Amino acid sequence: MVHFVGAGPGAPDLITRRGAALLQQADCIIYAGSLVNPALLGLAKPECIIYNSAEMTLEQVLAVMRQMEAEGKTTVRLHTGDPCLYGAIREQMDALDADGISYDDTPGVSSFCGAAAALNAEYTLPTVSQTVIITRMEGRTPVPEKEKLASLAAHGATMVIFLSIGLIDKVQEALLQGGAYHESTPAAVVYKASWPEEKTVRCTVGTLASSTRAAGITKTALIVVGDFLGTQYERSKLYDPTFTTEFRKGESV
Ligand code: SAH
Repeated sequence: MVHFVGAGPGAPDLITRRGAALLQQADCIIYAGSLVNPALLGLAKPECIIYNSAEMTLEQVLAVMRQMEAEGKTTVRLHTGDPCLYGAIREQMDALDADGISYDDTPGVSSFCGAAAALNAEYTLPTVSQTVIITRMEGRTPVPEKEKLASLAAHGATMVIFLSIGLIDKVQEALLQGGAYHESTPAAVVYKASWPEEKTVRCTVGTLASSTRAAGITKTALIVVGDFLGTQYERSKLYDPTFTTEFRKGESV
């Protein structure tokens, strides 16, 4: 059996209890080396075999899983954040299906949630944005034509941009091209959310590239953009004294 597990954004106590239990029971752990906190490997049994997938191809990862399965052993495939975002799990799952190897998936706290926590921010403020666009800038990995950053930026919604900090000049340019954000629209960069070396940089779309450079951030960071980082919003209906819900009768004013 193979267990895909989300490691969370970095802090070892942000893994789920289920994920931690699976690590403790694993005969083999294949972890995404550059981003998973090595402290989590401390949960492994002494005899657990550990591989760093940063140095492996898909074929090599699958070969380890097949070998473990043949020996009746359990493998944990440990991905950073939640495996469903940029985790390359589909290709592993399809290969396991073809081999008749069973697997399951334990979610984790994605770094986009870790970044919001680092900023004490709410992505979905009433009247500001009720939508979060999770995307990336095209680089060596292409992005479908209809999802180009500039066209997504035309919505003016909250945006969280993964895997793109090394292309920060192009990101800034595309965000402005969209037409809905302005030089003065708030933005932030969160480096290594929830790690001891976490860093947050608050800036605007117009100063995104220069602020990122000034902070010396070149990897493991998210770019977040939108007026949710500003000061204007309306309070929620849910907790408004005059609003009636299924659980509470609103006061008349
Ligand atoms: N599955 C992961 C994302 C993997 S892609 C998740 O759910 O978070 C790797 C990218 O995620 C990095 O390039 C960076 O943009 C972002 N990332 C991962 N961990 C991060 C962290 N702790 N802080 C900021 N960004 C992070």
